[in-house]
Amino acid sequence: MFELHHLKGNTYYIDGTTNCGVYKLNDKNECALIDCGTEEDGPKIYKAIKDFGFKITHLIFTHCHADHSGGWEYIYKNSGCKMIASKVERGFFRDPKLDIGFLYGGYPLDEYDGKLMHIDMNDEIYALDEIPAGLDWFHLPGHHYGMIGVKTADDVYFVADTLGSINLVEKAHILLIYDVKGYLSSLDFVESLNGNIVVPAHSEVTTNIKPVVEFNRNNCYNIINILLDFLHEEHNCVECATYIFDHFDLKISYNKYMLILSTVRSYLSYLSNQKRIRNYFKNNRLLFINDSK
Ligand SMILES: [Zn+2]
Repeated sequence: MFELHHLKGNTYYIDGTTNCGVYKLNDKNECALIDCGTEEDGPKIYKAIKDFGFKITHLIFTHCHADHSGGWEYIYKNSGCKMIASKVERGFFRDPKLDIGFLYGGYPLDEYDGKLMHIDMNDEIYALDEIPAGLDWFHLPGHHYGMIGVKTADDVYFVADTLGSINLVEKAHILLIYDVKGYLSSLDFVESLNGNIVVPAHSEVTTNIKPVVEFNRNNCYNIINILLDFLHEEHNCVECATYIFDHFDLKISYNKYMLILSTVRSYLSYLSNQKRIRNYFKNNRLLFINDSK
């Protein structure tokens, strides 16, 4: 863990619970870092890069979650690098309450730990047009509002949290998704990269990403089918989330409840917007039903 591995040309990655990208920018051994792990990971990632003889001049965030950005402070203070994120994610970085309000759907209970996924960053973060030559960014809708991926000039693709490893998906059963339609389109895109080197944040680096994509897609379809079955009788969103907890025998906590309720709400919006279920008000409750036989 936390070793710098060469992938191709000027492209490297650091393995960890969150895989991070490293791209050598020039003959001065200056490099761009793509994501920086958790707060605890930051010093280890910085050391791996420094020991290799590289100097971080740019830090690009795929999205604001703490396992991708938590190491920023250590790395920024030690390198003075330019930090870059998408327009929406820059907004989330501005105030840790913003993402928790986004997930919770209102002002959160005190029980919610602001450190879980939310970084309080007041330093300047630059727009995506500051990404240095040799790197291109692309939208990866689905997991988080403004998540991006990064392609290097060596045709290596860093695809952030578009998918999880088979092991991770089997354990979690349901992954955090904001936009189910976008998520499925991002999976299609990542599948189209098969044959190239693909670096997911939470799965092994591979040139054969197709089976992992298929596993994640089938898991998403499985959640859809579970909800469609449950909705043969009318239910509200909270009842659907409770059913998911029961179905997979998930251990409840404040944070997990918030993430799954938010994700189930997104699935219900997707199914309703796709006209696969119907929504209506009854006794001042917003209900959903699957009318199909
Ligand atoms: Zn994430």
